[in-house]
Amino acid sequence: MSKQDRRIRGINPPVSRFRLEIRRSRIAGLGVFAAEAIPRRRLVIEFTGDRITRAEALRRWRMRGRPKRITYARLNRQWIIDPWNGNGSVYINHSCEPNLYQCKLPGHYLLFSLKRIRPGEELTFDYKLHPEKTAVPCRCGSPRCRGVMNRMPRRRKRLH
Ligand SMILES: [Zn+2]
Repeated sequence: MSKQDRRIRGINPPVSRFRLEIRRSRIAGLGVFAAEAIPRRRLVIEFTGDRITRAEALRRWRMRGRPKRITYARLNRQWIIDPWNGNGSVYINHSCEPNLYQCKLPGHYLLFSLKRIRPGEELTFDYKLHPEKTAVPCRCGSPRCRGVMNRMPRRRKRLH
């Protein structure tokens, strides 16, 4: 376990409206799981952390040994959220068929439930990485997996 893994033992309760837990995931490394049923269209958790610039994000990524796991969330053109000092939402994995969706409000990156989530289900959202950025392979296991965490370019038909 890295230093960062040890820092976060669980989801900080004040930031989540539901009971969530962090444990090993079939998708990748650790994941965040619902410990109780979550109705659809509810605020589940805010994706929190340090608000940093792109230059600082690049600096930190290099400093951490250029990890493959995507952890940053893009708040807007200027700001990126680095969730390592956040509330544990750093462990929410990507899926091409997610049960959460992101909603950006000024200064906040919120995750809402897309559908009813059963207790024990892993929470996921679609990272929607930029289509022209480096393709990041996806192993979410969903039948509709795109194969990459990048979103498809707009105005173009899907290749498969
Ligand atoms: Zn996938």
